[in-house]
Amino acid sequence: MRSILVTGGAGYIGSHVCKALAQAGFQPVTYDSLIYGHEWAVNWGPLEVGELSDGDRLDQVMRKYGPEGIIHLAAFAYVGESVSNPLKYYKNNVGGTISLVESAHRNGVKKFVFSSTCATYGVPKNVPIVESEPPHPVNPYGASKLMVERVLADCAVAYGLEWCALRYFNAAGADPACRIGESHDPETHLIPLIIDVAKGVRPHITIFGNDYDTPDGTCIRDYIHVDDLADAHVRALERLGSSLPTIINLGTGRGYSVLEVIDSVQAVTNNPILVEVGARRAGDPARLVSDPSLALDALGWKAQYVEIGPIVDTAWRWHCRESPA
Ligand code: UDP
Repeated sequence: MRSILVTGGAGYIGSHVCKALAQAGFQPVTYDSLIYGHEWAVNWGPLEVGELSDGDRLDQVMRKYGPEGIIHLAAFAYVGESVSNPLKYYKNNVGGTISLVESAHRNGVKKFVFSSTCATYGVPKNVPIVESEPPHPVNPYGASKLMVERVLADCAVAYGLEWCALRYFNAAGADPACRIGESHDPETHLIPLIIDVAKGVRPHITIFGNDYDTPDGTCIRDYIHVDDLADAHVRALERLGSSLPTIINLGTGRGYSVLEVIDSVQAVTNNPILVEVGARRAGDPARLVSDPSLALDALGWKAQYVEIGPIVDTAWRWHCRESPA
């Protein structure tokens, strides 16, 4: 069977990638430290617990499964924490990736799909954002992802690594069958926090600033369903090679404001959402919306979920599921 090593396969996006790989006929092998990942999220292939920094363990897993390629999602991803503890982020996200690429090189694995982020752009001058927008990350998290892209570009020249970095916009939603979904601790993302308010778990949602230069004053983001993201990874993996662009945005191309997302959760759940307006959060650009043209051209990929309502609906059903996870 064609195995693919999925680092971070026990995480939110990684577990959906494993599902998509299995549906496409691959065997996803999850390599995860389980620091943030969950054993219950690994359903479509074996789990190998290990750290990215542990080259011997990586070699052992590579020898055991002989993966055809790697989809690398394992990373620390709390923007605020990256500001207060940058070394933790550079060590894990950059150092950990170097250790992974070294092991890939030792074991002759040449295909590499990397989970990157629109945080590499920082505060873009032009929105919708095209891939040629100069990257100026405004926090260590975004900077660590951009550095990895550079490392991969250099390894392509030196070792013939075939790579692609997928720059995600705002991942949202869950498996419609409710087998896997978003479960972060601590949770910092907008949609799960609003859902907690709808469930009565949190008293209110704080809007981080309503004085932005946007139609309703709140920040606009491009929310992309996690199954759409996962599908793009499989497509990228299957198309790796000389003609595939190395940097591809993954978003719907449509933006929603914080207030529009709150309205959507209210409409989907039929529950009132108590809202407070707070201060702006440092480093939040007013608008982050992707231009998804390249993904369509290069991957034949288009988001299936474009409206926010159906995305929120899958998230809501996941958060209301009857399961101990
Ligand atoms: N946001 C908010 N209140 C919250 C969490 C997030 O107003 O409690 C806003 C945040 O300022 C941003 C949007 O919601 O404009 C999405 O934030 P999230 O943290 O989910 O993702 P990010 O865009 O930071 O990757």
